[in-house]
Amino acid sequence: MLKRTSIFVLFLFAFVFSLPQTTLAGSPVTDHKIIIDAGHGGDDSGSTACLNLPEKIVNLDISNDLKELLIANGAVNVYMTRTGDETLSNADRYNYANSTDGEVLVSVHLNGSTNTSTDGTQGLYGKMGKDKAFTQVMHNALWEGLKSTPDFTDFGVTNFASGLLLKTTMPATIQETVFISSTQECQQLTDGTGIRQQQIAQSLYNGLIDWFSQPPPPRKGKH
Ligand SMILES: [Zn+2]
Repeated sequence: MLKRTSIFVLFLFAFVFSLPQTTLAGSPVTDHKIIIDAGHGGDDSGSTACLNLPEKIVNLDISNDLKELLIANGAVNVYMTRTGDETLSNADRYNYANSTDGEVLVSVHLNGSTNTSTDGTQGLYGKMGKDKAFTQVMHNALWEGLKSTPDFTDFGVTNFASGLLLKTTMPATIQETVFISSTQECQQLTDGTGIRQQQIAQSLYNGLIDWFSQPPPPRKGKH
């Protein structure tokens, strides 16, 4: 016959093992729905400051790396505005985004400057109420993840009246992750290892972790 304490322990084990697996092993992105927008594409190369590697290709590589991280950590849906070298208008992007049940949208870009020693990260938001808090969280994660890069500048977050940001119904941000026009970034992005792209994707992923960890996540509805 079992003692009372043994029965209690048995019940405890039964309870713990009956919990959904996501509760035990879940990441903050588990069960969330995220839209990734790889900037430019097709006829629109974005910055061509890095020889043989247009911005549009790096944007897609980082977006794919980010998608893999999210899926591996249980995100229930990851929506991509493009998965190939397609030409998309802003309207194509926001109409698609608004047709999904995505909770946030991250638009992945690289910045450009005529000064090849300029490097750093900047976040762009459209609507103050809808986008700014999300943009700040994502920007902070990029800065934390990439600030050890030599001569890397924190360009902060700033307002940018992009149709993509203004017309999407969910919190949305454009992240100008690094400067592709920077000599050091161009070298790393073209070294064939994909390590720099992975670092940038990891930093964006960390931002989404931070966003979905906030108690409670500030969802702003349809405004
Ligand atoms: Zn761009």
